[in-house]
This record gives sequence, C-alpha cells and structure tokens, in this order.
Amino acid sequence: MSEKNFNPSTPHSRQAEFGFEVGTRLTSPEGEPMLGRTGVINTPHGQIKTPAFIAVGTKATVKALTPVQVEELGAQAVLANAYHLYLQPGSDILDEAGGLGKFMSWEGPTFTDSGGFQVMSLGSGFKKVIDMKSVDQSGPDDAVAPGKERLANVDDDGVWFKSHLDGSKHRFSPEISMNVQHQIGADIMFAFDELTTLQNSRGYQVESLERTRLWAQRCIAEHFSLTDSRAGKKYQALFGVIQGAQYEDLRRKACQDLGAMAFDGFGIGGALEKENLGTIVGWCSEELPENKPRHLLGISEPDDIFTAIENGADTFDCVSPTRVARNSAFYTPHGRFNLSGARYKRDFSPLVEDCSCYTCQNFTRAYIHHLHKSKELLSHTLISIHNEHFTVSLVDSARNAIEDGSFFELKAKVMSEYYAGNPDPQGLPA
Ligand SMILES: [Zn+2]
Repeated sequence: MSEKNFNPSTPHSRQAEFGFEVGTRLTSPEGEPMLGRTGVINTPHGQIKTPAFIAVGTKATVKALTPVQVEELGAQAVLANAYHLYLQPGSDILDEAGGLGKFMSWEGPTFTDSGGFQVMSLGSGFKKVIDMKSVDQSGPDDAVAPGKERLANVDDDGVWFKSHLDGSKHRFSPEISMNVQHQIGADIMFAFDELTTLQNSRGYQVESLERTRLWAQRCIAEHFSLTDSRAGKKYQALFGVIQGAQYEDLRRKACQDLGAMAFDGFGIGGALEKENLGTIVGWCSEELPENKPRHLLGISEPDDIFTAIENGADTFDCVSPTRVARNSAFYTPHGRFNLSGARYKRDFSPLVEDCSCYTCQNFTRAYIHHLHKSKELLSHTLISIHNEHFTVSLVDSARNAIEDGSFFELKAKVMSEYYAGNPDPQGLPA
C-alpha cells in the first residue's frame, strides 16, 4: 500500500470481525445519564463483558497460575507484553506456535500492549512515576532517575533501547511494534506511543503528542498492510493510545485526532495522578467515539476502579493482584492485609469468609501463612488466585450494579468498608 495515498480514517474491511456493543448506560442518583456503561467486546476468541478486569500475563503467563486457574477464578481475558515477549522468547517463536493464546494454552481473548511503556519506563528508570505518585514537575525533560543509566532514546522515527536482560541494543518503531504484535497474535493490540512522565514540561508534552499522532497513523498503515499479508490469520484489533498527561486541551486533542482514525478501540495511557484519574478518563470518554471500547492501562485499587468505570472506562489491567500476592498481601472487603503477620499462625478461617474462590473454599490463613514462612511456592499460587478473583469479581459486581441501577450504592458500600479503619491499608507486614 502506498504511504502517500494512505488515509488512516478509512476502515479495513476485516474490522467487522471485531466489535463492541454498548449495553446499559450509567445514570446518576438523580437519573441523569453519565459516561459509564456496560458492553460486550466481540473478539475471534470469544466475548468480554465490560466493564472487565483483564488479568496481566506479562510473559505469556499469569504469574504462578495455570490457564485453567485463571479461567476458574473468573478472568475473561489476559494481557501480555510485547517488549518482554520480543526479547524472550522472540515474537517469531510465538508466531510459529500459532500465536499467544495457543502458545500459553489460553483459549479466551488476549491483549498485548505495544512495548512502548516498558521501552521508555525501563529506559528512563522512572518506573514509579507511572505508579501515579505525585512528582516535582520542574525537572528537565531528559531527566533520568537517580542512579540509573538512560537505556532508551526517542527520536521521531522510533526508539533505541537496551535490553534489561543483557544490555543488547534494539530498535522499536511503529512498524516494528506492529510486526512484533502481529507475530504474537493477540486479539487486541495497542499502537506504539511515546510515554511521557509528569516531569516533562508542557512544551515536551506538545511535541511528544504530535509524535504519537504521527506514529498512530504509521501503526494503522502497517497494521492494515500486515492484516492483508497475513490473510489466513484471525483478525487482530488495534487500539490507539491517548496521551496528553494532565492537560485537558492535549487529552481532548489526542482523542479528536486518534478518534478520527480507523482504530478498533482506544487505550488511555500515560501519566495519571490518582486525584486526576476520573477527570482525565472523563475528558477522553466525552471525546472518543461512543461505539468503541476504552481500555485504561494499569489500575487495580478499588477506588480507582470505581472512578474509572464511572467515567467511561470499559477494561483495565494491572499487575498488582499477583505482584502483591508474591509478597503475601491479600485483598479483603476491609482492605489489604499481609499474611506474614504472626497473628495468622493459628487463624483457621479462610482469607475472606464468604469468598467463592478455590483458595478460600479449601485453605486457611494459618496454612497459607505457614506456606509463606516456609517459602513454599504454593503460597504464591493460592494468594494470586484469591487476589485476581477479588479484583475480577469487584469489577463484575460494578457491571451488574450498572445494569440494575445500584452502582452508586455499591460504590459507597465498597469504599466505606475497604478504606475505613483498616490498620494495614497497604498490606504491609504486620
Ligand atoms: Zn478467596
């Protein structure tokens, strides 16, 4: 296809193989229509009822869990990472295996993120910025975290980066990311974008946003070309990624620019401070096409989940449920607690009394405390099952509450129980 004549707004004929239907719209307690909604995403590997929490399987595995366990705990889809799979085992291996789902033996829908986040966040060493911590905005645009070497360099064509595994040098560009993600073969892919941090100046955000817009066009062109050349494969949908940091005009412009392009859906990415999360997701939902799904990258705290759903996000992903599980922290309706505490030694109750997950149906806090103290790997599995189930179920209950008109009652109940009077809100060792 000729680059010169390519129009990124013209849809590809195979995009009909992916779809999204809006279901019930959220209404305010006063009966006013709001941005939140339920819906159904249709992929070649099945449906995702939204809002939905997507389990993270960075390296084609949800850490410590078999795909059967992931399915049984209620997850509808898995999100893997293009950067990690490109470096190890190599995206060509996944292609030869028949794609991500087949390779990892997960039959349901799959996502890959573009690798941009990892390339750039590992590259600048500023991992924490993306964890929604407030930062000083006065730093230089090329700042590198203290004690870190800059491992990524962005130019208009793409990014040079060094592997975090062996220091080898690699290049990612919109075209390379699309080729890598087509080889990995997930149902939903993300366009390659530049990740900025809250420390970047407004001037840099403007420059970066334009780069991300041009990269979005190149991603669509390459994606459509690959869709044609790999005609025997199932259709892979492509989501554009909305950047613009904390600036309303930049976020709205990004939504208008990318919203006019032939993307199948959108990711809301980049630097988000916790206190601005709802506002920023709301700006994006107001601007983006109503009939396309919106994914919010990287949230899992209950208050963030409710805020995002209320403001129009359809799917979310986050590593936290399995990451904190490996540090023996578990979620309950009354906050996050840590099983390493001595008080659990003779606690023969389940992690959560009425939880329907496999872990809570079969094991006690005392037993999992013992596994943790003995450094037995089964503790990772059992707590991960519970934490993923807890998060997936929370989002499922929010979906049901939108349908039956009780969303704000549910939100108030969850918030008051989860954040009230927990002596150990972050699940730190007691
Ligand atoms: Zn449980």
